[in-house]
Amino acid sequence: MQDILIRNGIIMDGTGRKGYPGGIAAKDGLLTAVGNVDGIEAKAVIDAKGHAISPGFIDAHCHSDTTFLRDDRCEAKIYQGVTTEVCGMCGDSPYPSLPEHRHNLDTRKSWPQYDDWSALSFADFLARVKNENRVMATNLCQLIGHGAVRAGVMDYEGRVPTGAELDVMLDELDRELTTGVWGFSLGLEYTPGCFAKPEELAAFGEVVAKHDALLTAHMRSEGRQEEAAINEVLDIGRKTGCRVHISHLKIDYAPKWGQAPAVWKIIEDAQKEGVRVSADMYPYSASCTSLTTRCPRWAVEGGNAMAAKHLQGPRRAEVMAELTNRLSEKYWADRCLITSTATTWPEIEGKYLTQVAEELGMKYEDAAAEIIIRTEGKATCIFFTMDDRDTLYFLGKDIGICSDGYGLPYDPALLFGNHPHPRSYGAFVRFLRLNREHGFGTAEDAVRRLTSKAADMLHLRDRGRLVPGLAADVTVFDPETVADTATWLEPWQKPVGIDHVLVNGEIALLNGEQTPARAGRFLLHK
Ligand SMILES: [Zn+2]
Repeated sequence: MQDILIRNGIIMDGTGRKGYPGGIAAKDGLLTAVGNVDGIEAKAVIDAKGHAISPGFIDAHCHSDTTFLRDDRCEAKIYQGVTTEVCGMCGDSPYPSLPEHRHNLDTRKSWPQYDDWSALSFADFLARVKNENRVMATNLCQLIGHGAVRAGVMDYEGRVPTGAELDVMLDELDRELTTGVWGFSLGLEYTPGCFAKPEELAAFGEVVAKHDALLTAHMRSEGRQEEAAINEVLDIGRKTGCRVHISHLKIDYAPKWGQAPAVWKIIEDAQKEGVRVSADMYPYSASCTSLTTRCPRWAVEGGNAMAAKHLQGPRRAEVMAELTNRLSEKYWADRCLITSTATTWPEIEGKYLTQVAEELGMKYEDAAAEIIIRTEGKATCIFFTMDDRDTLYFLGKDIGICSDGYGLPYDPALLFGNHPHPRSYGAFVRFLRLNREHGFGTAEDAVRRLTSKAADMLHLRDRGRLVPGLAADVTVFDPETVADTATWLEPWQKPVGIDHVLVNGEIALLNGEQTPARAGRFLLHK
């Protein structure tokens, strides 16, 4: 007697091979049969009604590190068929730190803030999760952020680490990578990652290579200096042999719109040269990040709040010069949607910068400065700064798919005034819809990119494919109708076309509604 049987579907097994009629069975959290399930009996039987049965989707890059502590439903992901999330990205993670610098980790996450959940190590964090019987709806794979390691040893200082500091940081990473962490992430556009020089990055790369883990990079530039930024990441792979991964690939700079083929060629050439490099992206032509990314890098030395200080100090003119340059035309101010002020100025959330400027009776650059000041550098914005041609070009290549978002709830009242980017609620179903409309590949290949591709990038061996013996993470969806409904102004919308989801062999979503099951867990790198 099996625990669960899903019958009468089309098996899309995650490898990309052509779908075929069949079902799956699971017992004790593992798949026991895939394909012909005639005669199998189970305690629970689900009729897939001819829809696709695929491995649960894997979010290759997101920021749900502590989301489950606030809300263990992880609605935004479960309702899309996501069963595993890869966290600790863009240089950011709630650990590790030396005890005397732990306060630095408290301010690193813009949402949700869990000041008291920072930890000295991943192992400490896991122990606390266990002691407090915390549960989660999705599986989490954790990376360690370079920014966290650096801030946890040398604060946000904009300088090269001393030999002793570097040794401490490398030892910390070495230790973390023995406790189940999957890799190391860079956030080179952010403080303090932006202060790292190539020698420092290569030293970390050596440690990552030693553990055969993954090094992911939010690059130093995703627009103006993109070629140099890609090469900086590739060089870490060239020098150390570690597997490198470019996070949320995009062209975020209008003068370079249309250059996606040239950018992609740099990556392909590196692969031919033998560099082990992969990439992911979210299927949208707008980004979401801190407004302080439009300030000069020296202005965020000491943290994003420093930008607010400098805007009220003797160097205001210097900060304003960069801010004005980066938002240089009304065109850009029109394309900057304020999404979060971390509750410091809720009245402007969900408004465009030009709208806020008008209401304040200011020029847009002065309004931007005012926002940075009043939010103490905490404001995040959606920047409509990419071109659909580039987004569609990249989507047509063999790139992994991510949300770069959080496991958010649907009820806006539970978002604490935040107005998130719709990618949290729609990235995966949107990719399936865009694949159907633009024909990047077969439906089976789209499933492969949402499942085994992400698992292979991470070296996650026990899921991402429908094979007996692997974990029973399963998504049943209708390939003909699956679609996103999340919009820029109302992102908190449930998708259509996702029928059922299993996480570790338990029913997490049934007939499009979440069940009380919280069967997710931390997956550990061995
Ligand atoms: Zn990032």
